[in-house]
Amino acid sequence: MKGWKLAVAGGMVVGVVNIGLALQSREYKSGIIWPEPAIVTPGTTPADPPSDAVVLFDGKSLSQWQNGENWEIKNGYAIARKSGISTKDSFGNCQLHLEFASPSEVKGTGQGRGNSGIYFMGKYEVQILDSYNNKTYFDGQCASIYKQTPPLVNACRKPGEWQTYDIIFEAPQFGKEGKVEKPAYLTVFQNGVLVQNHFALRGGTYFDRPAAYSPHAERLPISIQYHGNPVQFRNIWLREIPPIVGKKPE
Ligand code: MG
Repeated sequence: MKGWKLAVAGGMVVGVVNIGLALQSREYKSGIIWPEPAIVTPGTTPADPPSDAVVLFDGKSLSQWQNGENWEIKNGYAIARKSGISTKDSFGNCQLHLEFASPSEVKGTGQGRGNSGIYFMGKYEVQILDSYNNKTYFDGQCASIYKQTPPLVNACRKPGEWQTYDIIFEAPQFGKEGKVEKPAYLTVFQNGVLVQNHFALRGGTYFDRPAAYSPHAERLPISIQYHGNPVQFRNIWLREIPPIVGKKPE
């Protein structure tokens, strides 16, 4: 009896070993030695800056922005006044979080209501507009890539309610003689809803002419537009996205 049990146990062990070997021989590993992905502690809510974020506005000061003194700061948010603002630092590829609220006192129509916008590299605008019951040309409404494409859906909250943008921006790359080797891309979530899905930009976004690229630096400031409307902002942060570089073993 004892011997039979042992035989069964032995057989099972052999079986397990065989299965293990079979799995091992089928598994593919790239062999590339990657750096270990850095550990980033997420914020307690999606809106809180994660541990490696560059905080551009914490509700107290716009000291990291050129012309920041032109905007009014109260109760932990900033109100657009007098001029646009631009970051003093320059950025390329990045993940940006920003919260905004259209003026609760509804004034104006179309492009005249709650207009602002976030310009990556000072050139590529994700539109900010009060598009809650406010029609305008679709490729100029809130979350459009201005005059290039409408948002996938209209995910706007009511005027006066805080809204979030989570944006992934990929800077364009230019080759010799300024030729576009890779266009700029934008992915945008508005209030957690996908509104732009890796959209390839046709160039800078302009009011008065079609989109076009002109070669520029790899990093440039981010701007927020002042368009005459007292749009409110809070909790602005970004994470730069450096490429991860692996290497083959020696
Ligand atoms: Mg605008």
